[in-house]
Amino acid sequence: MTPKSPIPQVHIETFGCQMNESDSELVRSMLKREGFAFTEDRERADVVLVNTCAIRENAHKKIYAHLSELKGLKKRRPLVVGVLGCMAQNLKNELAEKEPLVDVLAGPDAYRQLPMLLSTALEAQEQGFSQKGFALDLSEYETYEGIMPDRDSGVNAWITVMRGCDNFCSFCVVPYTRGRERSRDPENILVEAREAVARGFKQITLLGQNVNSYCAGEWDFAKLIRAVADTLGIDRVRFTSPHPKDFPIALIEAIATHPKVCKHVHLPLQAGSDRILDLMGRTYTGAEYLALVDRIRQTIPGVVLTTDIICGFCTESDQDFQDTCRMVERVRFDSAFIFKYSERKNTIAARKYPDDVPEHIKGARISKLMEIQRQITLERNRELIGKKLVILVDRDATRSSTQGMGKTDGNITVVWDKGTSHFVPGTLITKRIFDASAATLYGE
Ligand code: SF4
Repeated sequence: MTPKSPIPQVHIETFGCQMNESDSELVRSMLKREGFAFTEDRERADVVLVNTCAIRENAHKKIYAHLSELKGLKKRRPLVVGVLGCMAQNLKNELAEKEPLVDVLAGPDAYRQLPMLLSTALEAQEQGFSQKGFALDLSEYETYEGIMPDRDSGVNAWITVMRGCDNFCSFCVVPYTRGRERSRDPENILVEAREAVARGFKQITLLGQNVNSYCAGEWDFAKLIRAVADTLGIDRVRFTSPHPKDFPIALIEAIATHPKVCKHVHLPLQAGSDRILDLMGRTYTGAEYLALVDRIRQTIPGVVLTTDIICGFCTESDQDFQDTCRMVERVRFDSAFIFKYSERKNTIAARKYPDDVPEHIKGARISKLMEIQRQITLERNRELIGKKLVILVDRDATRSSTQGMGKTDGNITVVWDKGTSHFVPGTLITKRIFDASAATLYGE
């Protein structure tokens, strides 16, 4: 159903991970195809879509605060509000019944229905009543094949290669909000990569909730990443987020040997205690994780290793936490995303284990682990002082427009004084590193 004129203006706000960013690009593409237009200005929008994340409590709070803001707007003038993404899927009853503000709910597998749902809601609003529409079915097949994302400009193009997850880590809501694992057709992925390069993108990041479990006939992730990296005109290929269980030697060798595949591996650890890893359902022990780290470091010299860690998971004792600290000190990650455990509705952990680590202990543990990692990151970054590194130029530095900002092959941020030098986002330049903090390298 195509909307009646005048053309409805849609404003979309995206929270959470890169998968959501990538999904918002798909949504934009589908809605534009059906006659909707997009505006950056929320005040001018006929429709506000909020693409949500359910992974942590913080994300929920942020989104509820945001929805409250929209209430004021909707009181002043006609407005259709749609909630998309993981929170729409996970909290459908709560949002559908208790949030009168929300006109449309659409889960991650139901975006093809959005044009119809929004048109119906807009028409009803024109006629002076409210028509709610919900599309929340999960699919075993939906990969949005044939829809070219409407990408933001920049140097990086996200390409989703698989959707969903079958791992059911006990803390994680993704298998419930994004459904079963399914991989896209490799030929279509390659067409999308070529299209992104033709539009000027220099880096492609392959995305999936469990990206390295990609499997389509003869194609595994190692074969896919090589093929994408062979795309003419591409400078860099990255991927996120992998699971340590899907790291065969063929994939490690693809990273090591293909010059376009970045020597950066994000390898979520989550915990260093075998007991907690078992409760989390991660399917590896600390020793197995360390063996994988050793294999990666031996095969890819100089590789940048980053990770995710959860502090204060159900029943985590001081000893368990110490095991995580020891593991972090042993691996010496280049950087880490460290989160406080927050119980997610419907997960295995919510059903089976008590969320029994007091908040103040979770807080103390996260501070301690962050400090350990900050020191390691600083030391590792300082080891790069004096080295010449190749940087993909991105944009002006956040703090000063007289400085440029870009990323190393290992995804570490570098800033430098632009001076009178030619500054072209998307070009590769070489800088000698003369200083380093825990967050940034400084190039000259
Ligand atoms: S691998 Fe585990 S943490 Fe990652 S999306 Fe799947 S269930 Fe969640």
